[in-house]
Order: sequence, then structure tokens, then C-alpha cells
Amino acid sequence: MRPATVPATGAAGAPAGAPVVLESPPEPVLAGPTEREWSAAVAAVLAQPRDAALLLICHVNPDGDALGSMLGFGQGLCRLGFTRVVCTFPGPPEVPEPFAALPGLELLVPEAQAPAEPALVLCFDAASESRLGGLRDRLDRSPSIVLDHHASNTRFGGVHLVDPTAAATSVVAEHLLARLGVPLDRDIAECLYVALATDTGSFKFDMTTPAVHELAARLLATGLAPAEIARRVFDTRPFGAVRLYGEALGRAQLDPTAAGGLGLVWTYATQADLARHGQRPYVLEGLIDAIRPAAEADVSCVIKQTGPAEWAVSLRSKGGVDVSRVAVALGGGGHRLAAGFTGRGTADEVAAAVRAQLATP
Ligand code: 5GP
Ligand code: MN
Repeated sequence: MRPATVPATGAAGAPAGAPVVLESPPEPVLAGPTEREWSAAVAAVLAQPRDAALLLICHVNPDGDALGSMLGFGQGLCRLGFTRVVCTFPGPPEVPEPFAALPGLELLVPEAQAPAEPALVLCFDAASESRLGGLRDRLDRSPSIVLDHHASNTRFGGVHLVDPTAAATSVVAEHLLARLGVPLDRDIAECLYVALATDTGSFKFDMTTPAVHELAARLLATGLAPAEIARRVFDTRPFGAVRLYGEALGRAQLDPTAAGGLGLVWTYATQADLARHGQRPYVLEGLIDAIRPAAEADVSCVIKQTGPAEWAVSLRSKGGVDVSRVAVALGGGGHRLAAGFTGRGTADEVAAAVRAQLATP
């Protein structure tokens, strides 16, 4: 509770001699980029000769927003006449099946083939440098523009286009493309639409503002086939993954007392589970959406094994808990209602760490 104080603006009306207590500073308003930042980004792109090496990067284990905003923007740079546009991300150069038909994939190269000293680096959807693996050194060597929408963004890199009010990084990417004078075409739009649709949970999350639907409308107007995109991106998975989901759902646990009684539902999947069902890790991305309907829990958590004692942890909240606080406390980041971190130990130990953070007010 904010203490009762004299607001700074009302100080003039305070009786003479009375101590003026200035109102405590407001919660940090995480506004979008300033006009100066937008202009700096536009200038940084347009200053480049058209044969300059432009490197676009996004976070490890790229999701729809990371890939969609990067590939959409990459195609936009090509439309401007840039001839050396390269996209990459850290780690194995595998694009998850739901995104394997995105336009612009021809711009993608394995991390090892990315130019060592590009003229300009553009970074998409990464809240911190730790999400860039071996590519983070490019930010030390080259000028950079960081496009992102995570409130937990650490403000690394050169020019910051970080808008925590944006539903997806693709919202920021579309805005910069518009400022660069790149018209939306169907291929660019498909990438940006996939990014927007995935990061809003199919236009269901609370950042789904009128502006999000207006952008979606402009993207669809280029001739996209939304039903086909949704089937490909959200509603298709191998039968082995369906069986694997069955197992993981079967061992889901409910802790109604967690988070001060708001409740936690959680489950895990091991690398052995993936191997037994012949599945790649990306198939587990949707598992959190399969457990979160549990009405008794505000918070849901999926613990996905990535190494002998290492786990990629996904957290979601229905509104009662700021899960980004939990994720940041455990070394990760994200948004208020969707966040994640890298967990260590056993799955039970990771779950215990989450419960402990949820118990901390
Ligand atoms: P997801 O659960 O879909 O993998 O991630 C949800 C959100 O949390 C995303 O916005 C993602 O950027 C963030 N996130 C997930 N894992 C990590 C992590 O290990 N570190 C950081 N900083 N953010 C993460
Ligand atoms: Mn995103």
C-alpha cells in the first residue's frame, strides 16, 4: 500500500513551513521506444550500403514470434534491396515442424555460418544476452538494434526497440518495417501473423488489444489463409507426441495450497520420454496449454528435460501470480502471465524451487 503523502504537484498548496513529503516515484512505466530510438533504428538500417552484411538473430529454441518476426523482417530488408541478409539462431539449426513452411526460411543459415563481423545486427525476441548463446559476441563487434517486447529485457545491445506493451516482437518489427517504407506483402505478413498468433495464444491472452486485431486484419488482407496456418502451427502433431502428452498429463500433479492457495498444476517430460516416442523436443511446446485448463490452479508449470540435470521450465498464470517474478528469481525471464527459466537438478527439485518462489510474496 502506498503511504499517504502530499503529491509533488500539490506541494504549492501545502501550508507554509509544513514538511513537504514528495510522493514516492510511480511504478516504473515501461513505455515503448522513444521517437529518438525509432529514428536511430531507421538511420542505422538506411545508412548501410545495399551489399552490407546484415545479420538477424533470435533466441535459442526459437518460437513462433522469434522466427516469425526475424524472417518477416529479413524479407522486408530484401525488399529494400539489401543483398546480404542472413538469419540465424543459436543451437541446433532445426526449425520446429510448425514453422517449417514459413516464407523466408531460405535466409536462415546454421549459427556457424553467420558472418563474424556483420555491418549491423538485428536481434529479435530475446530478453537477455543469455538467450543468444554463441551469437552474443556479434553484439560486441557490430552495431545492433534489439527488437523485443519483454518487460524483463536487460537493455543489452545498441539501439533498443523494446516495447513491453506489445503483444509480440512482430508488432515492433512491423512498426519498424513501416517506418522503413516497406509495404506488407503476403510472405512478410505470414511470418508476422504466425508470430502474433503464437505469442497471443491464438488471440486469447490479455495483450490482445484492438491494435493487435487491427494489425492481424492488415496482415490477413494480404491474402493469408488463417485456417491453414492455424492447423499447421497449432493443431498438428505426430501421433507419438499425442501418446507422449497422454503420459505427461497422466502424471500431472495438483498442489492447491501453492501460491498462497491460488494453486499450482505441474508435470514434466524427460529426454527418455521423447526418445521412447521418437519425438523431438519442440513437440512439448504445447504441453503447458494442455495442463493449464486445470481450474484448481492459477499457475501451471511444465518441466522439460534438456540435459542430464537441466530442464527448460515453462510457467503460466491465469492472472493471480506474476510468473515473470518467479522466473527472474530462478535465473530466467518472460512476461507476467508467461515466463520461463532453466532449472537444475531433478524435476522434483525444480518443482520444489518453483513452489518455494510461489510461496514468497
Ligand atoms: P515458453 O514457456 O513459451 O518457453 O516461454 C514463455 C516466455 O518466457 C517467453 O516469453 C520466453 O521468452 C520466456 N522464457 C522462457 N524460457 C526462458 C529462459 O530460460 N530465460 C529467459 N530469460 N526467458 C525465458
Ligand atoms: Mn515473443
